[in-house]
Amino acid sequence: MAMTIDEKDQLEIKADEAVRQLSRMPARCPVEKCGETVFPSNLMMHMLDKHAHAYENTNSEIYDHMPLLLHFDPKHFEYNNCCMVTLCYGGVKNQPDSQPALSYLSLPNAGLINSQHKYDNFLPIMMMVCRTSWFSQIKDKQLKNELTSKNGNKAGIYVFWLVAPNTTRKLYYTLTAYDREYHSSRSVIRTVRDFTICQNPSDFMPDEDNYFLLRDSEILELMSIGRPSSNTDNNKKRGIPMELIIYENPLKPIVQEKDLYTKMPHTKGTVHRTVNGKVSLIKRPFSKTTTCM
Ligand SMILES: [Zn+2]
Repeated sequence: MAMTIDEKDQLEIKADEAVRQLSRMPARCPVEKCGETVFPSNLMMHMLDKHAHAYENTNSEIYDHMPLLLHFDPKHFEYNNCCMVTLCYGGVKNQPDSQPALSYLSLPNAGLINSQHKYDNFLPIMMMVCRTSWFSQIKDKQLKNELTSKNGNKAGIYVFWLVAPNTTRKLYYTLTAYDREYHSSRSVIRTVRDFTICQNPSDFMPDEDNYFLLRDSEILELMSIGRPSSNTDNNKKRGIPMELIIYENPLKPIVQEKDLYTKMPHTKGTVHRTVNGKVSLIKRPFSKTTTCM
């Protein structure tokens, strides 16, 4: 049954109230080397000014259900919490009303200047990566040091997660790591984390599952497929491709644009594994729909 105008008004009032209730408390920037204190409504400005053009970063607009192809080279992210990707999430592409601050998902951004004003109502999202080890979660320092000295070289992991200012509704993402020939993949569905809460993987990993984890051995395995045949083969970059899809409604199908990714074969021999045995979804890349800025 269709909603009456009065019911629609009531829903809008409720949604508006939910946005007003969002915390405006500042927090430390999740990038460890930065550590500046940032207000949620200033995170877009801070992200664009300080982190969007950092070395090896990808900076891009991203839209609901539209895949973004990324490249992860582990040698660039060897220590601490680094920002691998800065994103301006604009809701559904070509539907300005769906922009996060206009669809009651988040607060509008403050302090943007000149051409940045087009992102006033977008949501800033940072894809973080941290190089750490399984042992970093052990609270007993002596045991941690002992294990690290004996087996440290076998316990290396990379943790990936997405952060943004707090939102009134959950924002989901599917993150997939592929080998260079797109024969095998590892994929998870997770939700974007609030940047004002703990951003230390050793502290948040035991209590929640909103991260994607790759062991050193898994990265080596993915990198070993389709390895360049000689040093002169410059067409293939070091590292592995990754695909990121952000969306509000997990039940809506991913946007498919058929003629893109045509060089990629279907996922024969896909590796179906999950992080800690939790929900996993294997997806073939559908489209290179968003280009990096
Ligand atoms: Zn920062």
